[in-house]
Amino acid sequence: MRIDHLINGEHVPGRDYFETVNPATQEVLAEVARGGAAEVDAAVAAAKAAFPAWSKRPAAERAAILHKLGDAIARTVPAIAKTETEDTGQPIAQTGKQLVPRSADNFHYFAEMCVRTDGHTYPTPTHLNYTLYHPVGVCALIAPWNVPFMTATWKIAPALAFGNTAVLKMSELSPLTAARLGRMALDAGVPPGVLNIVHGYGAEAGEPLCRHPDVRAISFTGSTATGNRIVHAAGLKKFSMELGGKSPFIVFDDADPKRALDAAVFMIFSNNGERCTAGSRILVQKTIYAEFTAKFAERARRIGVGDPLDENTIIGPMISPSHLAKVRRYIELGVAEGATRLVDGTEPPPLAGALARGNFVGPTVFADVDNRMGIAQDEIFVPVACLIPFTDEADAIAKANDISYGLSSYVWSENIGRAHRVAAAVEAGMCFVNSQNVRDLRQPFGGTKASGTGREGGTWSYEVFLEPKNVCVSLGSHHIPHWGAPP
Ligand code: NAD
Repeated sequence: MRIDHLINGEHVPGRDYFETVNPATQEVLAEVARGGAAEVDAAVAAAKAAFPAWSKRPAAERAAILHKLGDAIARTVPAIAKTETEDTGQPIAQTGKQLVPRSADNFHYFAEMCVRTDGHTYPTPTHLNYTLYHPVGVCALIAPWNVPFMTATWKIAPALAFGNTAVLKMSELSPLTAARLGRMALDAGVPPGVLNIVHGYGAEAGEPLCRHPDVRAISFTGSTATGNRIVHAAGLKKFSMELGGKSPFIVFDDADPKRALDAAVFMIFSNNGERCTAGSRILVQKTIYAEFTAKFAERARRIGVGDPLDENTIIGPMISPSHLAKVRRYIELGVAEGATRLVDGTEPPPLAGALARGNFVGPTVFADVDNRMGIAQDEIFVPVACLIPFTDEADAIAKANDISYGLSSYVWSENIGRAHRVAAAVEAGMCFVNSQNVRDLRQPFGGTKASGTGREGGTWSYEVFLEPKNVCVSLGSHHIPHWGAPP
């Protein structure tokens, strides 16, 4: 199979191609067009040309098209989920039941929002100020490999709903489902040029896209290192930067022990641990540390590792051999740093047939982790749990915040005052209290510190995808003070 660029509604062949492989088997799934500055220029030109007509379409018409696209995704969930699982190694139970259905919701949600976008009024005795929201223009949308279809739709839906046009660049490691989405968008009635897709590597396609002077806004999801590079290269543009995380999962001794344990296991091992909001630093109060840690390790040992197309699999293969090597390096680092390795996922039980060639690693659990260790400070983005003891509330907050990242956080306590105090004190864009990560599309999604800038979701998506304009109207009765009488 060959995957081409989508530029101005046409499938544009690559001048060169690269392979995308199934991380469970190393089987080549497709040859993908390898774009560069020339394809980016063509795609941005198409998006720029399509902008005036698309932005002037009544919001209700744009909404109708996006609802149609959402419906088409909802009807195609099993096929998209299978491709996503083959391309990323994310277990089918996640792609089929959570991630792809959520992608359809993204279109329905922003289709509803764009017909309700209103402004503010600021009346004074002499003037009436009011705000208008205008689309920004051409948006660069850049996605990582971990949940590519969901992330692509999370960006495309608001960008297009609010009247922008877009150039999407997926990760070179997982481009397949977005390529299909491009075709589905055309079928749903998205006009040529409104959504363009350029495939390729970050340095070759992503960077020229971000530098392009006709790109007005960049919605980027990926690593902190790349986010920093983009901000430097892109110059003055609107940014939404959804970057890395190493989120604290804080369990006090007055937490509901069973629910906290369930959520702790879920938040580090779901999505293969390749999850930006993973609760990868599990801070547990000393009074319950030994018991919690033992139970956590026991649960981790029972997690099924294997074929991601099997409904019972919890952990599928890591996205690439180099990511697998990174996991193994960090597992060795944890041992070298003196943490206690309770569960070692380095060599999971061998799998049969083609799966023997997959990038598999099992869940790994480190106890007695010091928050300053490399395994606790670095985003490893894998199923490696670090269990860190703390003494009291102040110690929990200090340890939670002693990190460069600030994406998500989790607080477990049945003491309502404490739960609110810690939720307020933790440095993060999001805090879930007595809950795993449960998304509401209205909530501001994003992080602080090295986890990024800007928020998306609900009206927060205005920040990147809309320009507010203030209109100030004289009511006719004033004159400019101290400049003499009006003529
Ligand atoms: P990455 O930064 O390596 O790549 C992300 C995307 O950027 C890819 O499409 C890549 O090709 C592109 N890219 C690379 N270099 C570029 C450049 N110089 N200019 C423009 N584009 C460039 O990240 P990844 O390894 O694909 O994804 C994992 C990271 O994503 C983790 O750090 C994870 O936390 C983060 N992530 C964050 C969120 C969030 O919402 N905060 C969600 C998912 C993943």
